[in-house]
Amino acid sequence: MEQIYTYGSYLKSKFGCKVYKVGINISGFTCPNIDGTVAKGGCTFCENDSFSASTNEIKDLKGFHLNLNSKENPFLEKQLKQLKTQFETITKMQMQKYGAEKFLVYFQSFTNTYAPFETLKALYDEALSFKNVVGLSIGTRSDSITDETLDYLAHLNKDKEIWIEFGIQSIYDETLQKINRGHDSQNVKEWILKSKAKGLNVCGHLIFGLPGETKEMMLETAKESYGWGIDSVKYHPLYVVKRTALGNDYIKGKFTPICEEDYIDVLVESVKLKPKNISVQRVTAGIDDDSLLGPKWCKDKNKQIKNINQTLKKFNLKY
Ligand code: SF4
Repeated sequence: MEQIYTYGSYLKSKFGCKVYKVGINISGFTCPNIDGTVAKGGCTFCENDSFSASTNEIKDLKGFHLNLNSKENPFLEKQLKQLKTQFETITKMQMQKYGAEKFLVYFQSFTNTYAPFETLKALYDEALSFKNVVGLSIGTRSDSITDETLDYLAHLNKDKEIWIEFGIQSIYDETLQKINRGHDSQNVKEWILKSKAKGLNVCGHLIFGLPGETKEMMLETAKESYGWGIDSVKYHPLYVVKRTALGNDYIKGKFTPICEEDYIDVLVESVKLKPKNISVQRVTAGIDDDSLLGPKWCKDKNKQIKNINQTLKKFNLKY
């Protein structure tokens, strides 16, 4: 049985032990697809409020949001403190529970390059200064990163492990329009190629089950993304949560989510098409609370993984 090359095994072989991701949410960050710069309301599946718990941690910051043109950031000191507190809280738990030794700081909520360069530099530098941090993983959109930031990340990448995670979702512009993505596929390709040219590590997010997409389209998205030189991939099924535009469509019967059988089918095909050097960070996603509208199979992630492995087994593969 061939073990699929995972991101965890990549990090382990590089750093000699399991590396734990430390998810960070910084108050004051937003997304150009939410603040009206490129669109309002965000991607149709995005439940913006779900990010707000920790983004409301800094009280007097409520309503303050950074963007690429912000001239000043009066909350930087508080954001740096927030970063430190979150890091210490999470890593303490990871050390106690799992004996964790090394960490990768993951800037995960909203768009983590969508702020003035000085703010980003301060946050990235601070995160890298923490004990036993081997690098950063920065979740962002391809329309929200500047050459200056990319150059700085490339500079940091000389001594540390720097990853940028881009949402690709689909290579079809008509699909990106349907989900109110706010940028086209060419933009994603351009910034992935640029990041790779600077030697950065790139992870691409792909979503299967987007409105109007066929299996062939989903496989084309996977193939094309692999061809852009991504180093790692995250595969997601599109699930529907409450308080989203997609949720409204779902309730009105205008959107039918992908069924588990079709998802596993396209996922396994995509994995088989994947060059072996691209590591896999996730094969599915789920949400086990009452915000999930559908599909119900996305509730139980363990069961999903079991079912995925059952199908992979037919091809002598395991995750
Ligand atoms: S880019 Fe991310 S944060 Fe922004 S609206 Fe889309 S899913 Fe939400």
